[in-house]
Amino acid sequence: MKLQTKLIAGGIVAFLIYAEKQRKNNNPKIFIRKKLIGGYNGYAAIPFGIFIKESEKDNKMLIEHEMVHWRQFQREGLIPFLINYGLEALKNGYDKNKYEIEARELSGEKKECVTNYTECIRLGLAETVNNPQFRL
Ligand SMILES: [Zn+2]
Repeated sequence: MKLQTKLIAGGIVAFLIYAEKQRKNNNPKIFIRKKLIGGYNGYAAIPFGIFIKESEKDNKMLIEHEMVHWRQFQREGLIPFLINYGLEALKNGYDKNKYEIEARELSGEKKECVTNYTECIRLGLAETVNNPQFRL
């Protein structure tokens, strides 16, 4: 095997070992950032940790929403979770994605916002957060 191929294979193996270690971590690191890409308020950057917009750093419901995604990763494992979440997103989009619905339900979101989340957040009707720029 060429050295370059060995280095890439080694990098992939090291990443997968790190991901398995992270899967057992019930306390992922929370990264606070001034602004997040895509108009999001927070996201689970699996397997690294959770990113939260600085303005939402004390928003327990939002952090719990992202923690549900972390636990989905812990339950399914890195590759199955990323594939299943991706397939679900292709099939049902964002608002009706079953992983998102689970996160909204378990974080205590209002019933009428569980499958209508984007509009609820933009209109300030969601419990989680009010953000007119959400996903724009
Ligand atoms: Zn989510």
